[in-house]
Amino acid sequence: MTRVPRTASALLVLLVVAAGLAARELLPGAVGGPVGDGLYAVLVVLLVALVRPRTTPVVAAVVALVVCAAIELSHLTPYPAQVLERLPEARYVLGTTFTVTDLAWYALGAAVGGVLLAAVTPRPRVVDQSLRHLRSAGKHRRGPRVVPLVLVLLLAGGAVVGWFMWSETQDLDAKVDDARAAHAASADKVADDAVRADLEAAIGDAETVLAGTPVLDRLPGDATDARERLDRELETVHDSRVEFALAEAAEARTALEPARRRAEGVLAATQELREDGQGANEAVSAALRTSLDSADETLAATDEKALAEAGLARLEDVAAGLAVRLGDLEGATTDLLTAQDAVVCPEPDQVWFPQAGKLSEKELAPLPWAPGYAVRADVVDGLVKLNDAYRAHFGEDLTVNSAYRSYDQQVEVYDPEDPNPLAAPPGCSNHGLGTAVDLSMGPEGFDGDRYAWLKEHAEQFGWTHPDWAEPNGRLPEPWHWQSVKTPVEY
Ligand SMILES: [Zn+2]
Repeated sequence: MTRVPRTASALLVLLVVAAGLAARELLPGAVGGPVGDGLYAVLVVLLVALVRPRTTPVVAAVVALVVCAAIELSHLTPYPAQVLERLPEARYVLGTTFTVTDLAWYALGAAVGGVLLAAVTPRPRVVDQSLRHLRSAGKHRRGPRVVPLVLVLLLAGGAVVGWFMWSETQDLDAKVDDARAAHAASADKVADDAVRADLEAAIGDAETVLAGTPVLDRLPGDATDARERLDRELETVHDSRVEFALAEAAEARTALEPARRRAEGVLAATQELREDGQGANEAVSAALRTSLDSADETLAATDEKALAEAGLARLEDVAAGLAVRLGDLEGATTDLLTAQDAVVCPEPDQVWFPQAGKLSEKELAPLPWAPGYAVRADVVDGLVKLNDAYRAHFGEDLTVNSAYRSYDQQVEVYDPEDPNPLAAPPGCSNHGLGTAVDLSMGPEGFDGDRYAWLKEHAEQFGWTHPDWAEPNGRLPEPWHWQSVKTPVEY
């Protein structure tokens, strides 16, 4: 019988352990992993020889492969994970996960271990000449028998690696298609555009991996790494789309609130006018009511809880739906304002506003030099400065004859019988908005110094003389001045 010298196998064990640790530390993961797996199998072969020196190299290799495969396959059960949780160092023996290619590297390592063992095993010496023929018949074929086994193991390992690389290529190919579609679909739908750039880069790298020649340009596992990276980037893009849709939905919900309050106000004001026999087209009112109801329904169905539970597709639908509701509501409100304007304010330069003449005390500010007169609070400062400049030039304050007019005051000053009325119909005057004043221009009117001075200086303080009140306008009024903030359309 031959035996492997224990000193030789012990020395090899130390060498292989050192090589394995070095491979783990020094080589990149894609190469170090397979080399480590192979060396692990070599180590098991040598340990078998160390424990049972009479074991033949073939048997040791087969035992090692079976042991390695068993350990690898054990990761399909929950037990190794339980062991690793209590004793993390056990990963050097058990590994951490099941990977099918590892089996190929174990097979290769077992074969190399077997060859190594055969190399350090002394040739059988013939002790008894009479047994020579028997021995030569049995033992001398042992050496050559290793070669086919090594070949079979190498072929099997190669086949497993080939199959694995083919299959991971298929997976990566499909993933790249998914990723391209997701990249195209996410345009203008992510909270952070950088995540799309990252996905694009990952797609480019994955395509490079796919284009590489297996084993020469890329190692087993490269395609899997590329696919896992794509998965991570796709996840990030997905999260960014959710974030974007949530923000869009929240923004539309926030904008819907004031829009629906405004619509309610316009509806209420037109209803009052209808009762006075000045109603706008009923169908336009009905359309705004419908739009308002839809907005209410959508708001109720898209509260924070509903949004939090919605998937991405639903979320993006909701965000788009809210934006449409907002657009509809604003459009329908403008339609009703326009329809009511056509009934109430006959002149094209007059605009009907439901809030005209109905400003609250809080929204108005008194003119400090003209008791009893007020304008909208946000335009008073410019008028005060204009008056200061006017006084510096003329030595007296502007003479105010009219400023903000409440709705009742508008009713009072409006005379529908007068073909050249001094005031616009109630609701149509920008005196009702608190953005107009009538200022005395003296007897010369358009030809006087006061009008000329104001024409030259009022704009710099935010006040202007409208076209309709110019000498050649619809209703020449030198005294009517208004803030540049006066709305002229919806
Ligand atoms: Zn006026």
